[in-house]
Amino acid sequence: MQAVKLVGPHTMELQDVAVPELGPDDVLVKVAGAGLCHSDLHVLHMGEEWPFFGGTVGHEGAGWVESTGSDVDGFEKGDAVLVSVVWACGHCRACVEGRDNACEVNGSRAMFPTTPGLGPDGAMAEYMVVKARHLDKIGDLDPVAAAPLADAGVTPMHAINSARDRLTPGSTAVVIAVGGLGHMGLQILKATTGARIVAIDNDETKLELARELGADVVLKSDSEAAQKVLDLTNGYGADAVFDFVGVQPTVTLATQIIAPEGALRFVGLGGGSFTYASDSSTETLPWGVNVQRSYGGTRADQLQVIALAQQGKLEVEVKRYPLADFQQAFDDLEAGKVTGRAVLVP
Ligand code: NAD
Ligand code: ZN
Ligand code: ZN
Repeated sequence: MQAVKLVGPHTMELQDVAVPELGPDDVLVKVAGAGLCHSDLHVLHMGEEWPFFGGTVGHEGAGWVESTGSDVDGFEKGDAVLVSVVWACGHCRACVEGRDNACEVNGSRAMFPTTPGLGPDGAMAEYMVVKARHLDKIGDLDPVAAAPLADAGVTPMHAINSARDRLTPGSTAVVIAVGGLGHMGLQILKATTGARIVAIDNDETKLELARELGADVVLKSDSEAAQKVLDLTNGYGADAVFDFVGVQPTVTLATQIIAPEGALRFVGLGGGSFTYASDSSTETLPWGVNVQRSYGGTRADQLQVIALAQQGKLEVEVKRYPLADFQQAFDDLEAGKVTGRAVLVP
């Protein structure tokens, strides 16, 4: 079978490899679609620092059950399934508390929990092996279009779920960036909260998508954006801010527009930072702000994302590429030419 391998610094290759063998708890998934995440680009740009060369890329995968290991119950050949982005242990204190995206066993203070395509072989291949417990059935959803739900859907869902107490009707939520994650976050906010939604991006095509998806206000990401959000809220600020970029300008923007007691969610990994001041200097955050550096999501978040998609309230804007055109897809993502999510179709 063919698989996209990260073979060395900045280098991916389409290789012919053996179809993987199954252990007793495993399911062989015939991949229908594998989403490209901006995190894959960050990994490529890490160069020599990346610890897992040789693995198959792709942490957003969905497909059909091809075969099952001897101990697997509850899955039949042909079932459409979504592969969880977090491969947590399922038994540790964090997992039992429903915080499987912060698994104590498979993650640490420095490292995210085990994630397919970022260590174990991922979804950019014709087949992938997944422990049955990391799969959720998706019924009639098209697994090509559903693949990005695993991360581009689940990650915003997690960030939003952690901010629900601020997303009351009448509140203002700001979505910074309407890319793969942001266009899903916007829909989740629309479908599940009564918040006024402000979408900010620096690309007019993405802002057009935000309008189509029902953003109440769209703003260009520029030096005036912060003042515009403050003006919209009588100077109070936004009750929840989701930064799906994380570059310096967006981190600064997020800290400038968050309201007192607001929920500030940093999701993007763009390298920006902010200074915390415990006194009343101008650099400090308003009182009560709750900051989270959000990672992926839980299985509970995943089930909610699948449910919303099944209700027709969450749809991935998909740009399909054949698996063999993976490099073109990554180049297009890097150049900002993908609106919604690029998905490789083996
Ligand atoms: P993407 O490439 O699909 O979208 C990026 C969007 O950001 C685009 O719409 C682009 O126009 C916009 N943008 C770029 N610079 C901007 C700026 N200065 N102001 C406003 N908008 C700007 O990326 P994605 O796949 O949605 O990923 C977004 C970020 O989230 C990446 O850094 C990725 O690594 C990270 N990520 C984090 C997690 C997590 O668990 N924390 C999970 C997935 C992705
Ligand atoms: Zn990702
Ligand atoms: Zn665990």
